[in-house]
Amino acid sequence: MTRVDNEHGGPAGVVVAVVATEAIAVTLRDLRHRLSGARSVALLNASGRVLLSSEPEADLLKSHPLAAHILDRIGASATGSAQIEMSTAGGAVDIAVARTAGIGPLREASWLVVAMRDEKADREELWRGLPAAATLLSTAIFAAWLLAIWLSRAISRPIERLAAIARSFGGGDLMVRAETSGMAEIGALGAAFNHMVDDLLLERTRLDDLNDELQTHLEQLHAHAALLEANQRDSAGRAELSSLLQAADSIDDAAAILPPLLGKVLPEHCGSVYLIKSSLNYLDCLGSFGAACGSAQTVAPEECWALRRGRPYAATDPAHDIYCAHVSPVSAPTGYICVPLQARGAPVGLLHVRYIGADATVTDALAERIQRLAEHIAMGLANLKLRDALKEQSIRDALSGLYNRRYLEESLDRELARAQREGRALAVFMIDVDHFKRFNDSHGHEAGDAVLRALGRALRDSARGGDLPCRFGGEEFTAVLPGASLQAAREWAGRLMQRVRGLEVKSGGQVLPGITISLGLAVYPEHGEDRETLLQAADLALYEAKHAGRDRLVEAGEESVTASPKDLQA
Ligand code: GH3
Ligand code: MG
Ligand code: MG
Repeated sequence: MTRVDNEHGGPAGVVVAVVATEAIAVTLRDLRHRLSGARSVALLNASGRVLLSSEPEADLLKSHPLAAHILDRIGASATGSAQIEMSTAGGAVDIAVARTAGIGPLREASWLVVAMRDEKADREELWRGLPAAATLLSTAIFAAWLLAIWLSRAISRPIERLAAIARSFGGGDLMVRAETSGMAEIGALGAAFNHMVDDLLLERTRLDDLNDELQTHLEQLHAHAALLEANQRDSAGRAELSSLLQAADSIDDAAAILPPLLGKVLPEHCGSVYLIKSSLNYLDCLGSFGAACGSAQTVAPEECWALRRGRPYAATDPAHDIYCAHVSPVSAPTGYICVPLQARGAPVGLLHVRYIGADATVTDALAERIQRLAEHIAMGLANLKLRDALKEQSIRDALSGLYNRRYLEESLDRELARAQREGRALAVFMIDVDHFKRFNDSHGHEAGDAVLRALGRALRDSARGGDLPCRFGGEEFTAVLPGASLQAAREWAGRLMQRVRGLEVKSGGQVLPGITISLGLAVYPEHGEDRETLLQAADLALYEAKHAGRDRLVEAGEESVTASPKDLQA
């Protein structure tokens, strides 16, 4: 073994004669490998001589003094191994030494394994490796930068798109959907967004349905409220109608009451109330309400389906429904209802209502309201008719059909007051059938009645509106002619006598002898200004007429002055 110095004269290593077998060399390489980081590994004998080195040329352990020093340190060590730090001219050297058994043919010997790490060499190695490391590092940084850019693009763009989609959705575009492809997280975000949108849409649909349902309920509520209001109006109207009809004195009063009341109860409609004539032949329009809707003035029972069938009849569509003959579909293209007015099983009249602006759904409710109204009107009218009939009975003479004496007295006072007010004349006649007793006596009481009936008819036919023909009692009659002057009264009396003379009255199958009458006339104001005076004057005149030979007119104040029918005719 030869020591080798470095260029500074320091120990650089030891040249060892190679005595080791191949196995020892392998062992050394293996040791070096295991002592990771060691530059070289050498075997020293007990006296400190290096027997083998993994790198014989390495600048390590070249001198005995170093070896001796190492051995000293090993000897001082209790464990038989040591970590030695030495300074050499080349720099610090880190040496690890361990005692080990011999190997192979050198098994008996006790060996020291020395591993040396040269700090300077390490540093140099480090510096040698630095450029490569720097390149590697910059490459890594560049790659990281590229990755960051890629990542930012890969993440930010989908997120921006997602944000734009969210804005569109917020702006009302409900059909937008996010992409679910691409990066897993972004895709998941898109899918979550879509899920949220679908949920929102579902919720919105549910809310819309709920809203529709609410709307429907609200409309129903409004319809009910309107119906309730109409019913309240109706019931108030019906109460008012009943009360007013009860307080009414006559059908004429009803004719004045009904139109405004019906207009109030059915403000959106129009129509008419008809009253049936006692002959039951036709109905007269009692009054109309609402806008003029061209109701007929008279209706024959056969012209109305409601009257023909005895129950309400409604038509809503001129194209498909049959319209009553009294309703013209041309003048009334809207629907209508006719409700027969019946009370106590007897027909009273008809309520005809045209629907204006009512749709089919309201029609049923409206028809019900109208029918309820009709019941009240029918009852009111029936009562008034009855009252009128009773009143009529109380003021009419049943046999002749003329007003009775009580009515004459009431009316004459009223007519005299009016004549006075208006400065008009008024004529009062007392009329008596000549030799009436003979009809009874010769042809029976029935014949006498027939003569009285015929005379009643003749007086009615001779009277104008406002005249008051009455049966005064027995076979005596009175006629009051408001506004008639003396001359007009004379002429009227002439026509009446003529008419009576022309009567052909039959009784018991035979024609009775001709009838004549005598008349006494008193005129307001010439012959009196009050009822008693005038009636008395007329009665006196009648007496004069009888006395003068009958079949004639005598005016009050004409003492024994007679006027024969022939004179009057002239
Ligand atoms: P004069 O020309 O003088 O009037 O003769 P007169 O026969 O008409 O007169 P009188 O007063 O004597 O006769 C009236 C008769 O009329 C008496 C009465 O029996 C009869 N009479 C009165 N009321 C009725 C009635 O309602 N029906 C019938 N058939 N007869 C009546
Ligand atoms: Mg008589
Ligand atoms: Mg008489």
